[in-house]
Amino acid sequence: MVQSTILLNDFAAMWDDIRNEALQAVERVGRSGWLILGEEVGAFEQDLATYSGIPFCIGVANGMDAIEIGLRCLGLEPGEKVLTTPLSAFATSLAIVRAGGQPVFVDTDASGQLDLDAARVYLAANRDVRFMVPVHLFGHALDLEKLRALRDEFSLRIVEDCAQSIGARSHSIPVGSIGQMAATSFYPTKNLGCLGDGGAIFTADEELRARARALRDYGQSRKYVHDHIGLNSRLDELQAAILRSALLPRLSQFTETRRSIAKMMCDGITTSRLRVIRGADSSCSVWHLFPVQVEGERESFQAHLKAQGIATGIHYPIIIPRQRAFEHLSLANEVFPRASEMAQSEISLPIHPYLRPSQVEQIVTACNAWEA
Ligand SMILES: *Cc1c(COP(=O)(O)O)cnc(C)c1O
Repeated sequence: MVQSTILLNDFAAMWDDIRNEALQAVERVGRSGWLILGEEVGAFEQDLATYSGIPFCIGVANGMDAIEIGLRCLGLEPGEKVLTTPLSAFATSLAIVRAGGQPVFVDTDASGQLDLDAARVYLAANRDVRFMVPVHLFGHALDLEKLRALRDEFSLRIVEDCAQSIGARSHSIPVGSIGQMAATSFYPTKNLGCLGDGGAIFTADEELRARARALRDYGQSRKYVHDHIGLNSRLDELQAAILRSALLPRLSQFTETRRSIAKMMCDGITTSRLRVIRGADSSCSVWHLFPVQVEGERESFQAHLKAQGIATGIHYPIIIPRQRAFEHLSLANEVFPRASEMAQSEISLPIHPYLRPSQVEQIVTACNAWEA
């Protein structure tokens, strides 16, 4: 008998929790009579910059736009190469293309993260590559001392993709602070999700901040003065108000809960058929996902968990260079063995702030009981 369904995300439980603050935020915005780029966005940007340990934050419409705007602020030229990872949300590479760039890929390491040692070899052999979009995948932080060394050695312009890693650190360095720019997403499933679409850009450079603010708003530097070919990519006052009043104040606790669930699962999962995918040693992770590598038939493991009422995900089943949309990039001859291996064997188990300890126990028990 399936007793309950353990979801990957529990948005209804979240609503019960945030309802009062969220409704007050809606009331505040509605009454203010100011719905786009007003005080709420400004105040949220300040709060999030403080939380992230990066001087400036610019709210935008979604995480993909944040990456595109970041690259354009850094002066990406049409057709220019941008080094990135084959294993990520498709949006990472799509943003590069939307910004006019050409994504180029190096393989991941054995834990699915962009292999920074392989990136160093690639950059040494391809001196024309000036741009990079590294991704802190699954909520784990890439080794930021290594990334900083790469940035300095090859004079790289970097937009860090922090859509899955808000609040993560490496060697005590916050993610997003090594790139000249960084991007994050408030898509509802993310660690700081809003009630719709949203995203943000981070930078420590005042000039880059001004350019990003112009690009999100038709490229205007002042009202009716357009200096750039911009986007319409604004964060709504409503989303900003809800984020600031109801969600950002909970983020530290959300992260602590994710970390303690991750610890329970790491300690509890003892079957040799599953390997938990951890971050680098230097990573202080925020566990956006709880990814495991399955030895044996992934579909049978998924079916086993489903029969116990436990939802699972796959991140990601198809590596980016093999997506049909990128056929024209002629990547068929390039191989990415470790990213491909991950794409074939990874399963994401539920981890979210509203998961109860009894449900975590259920997941652990079900994992250890799998017999294929
Ligand atoms: C979600 C995500 C994005 C895109 O964010 P959107 O807000 O959905 O546009 C980009 N990169 C990564 C790694 C993501 O997880």
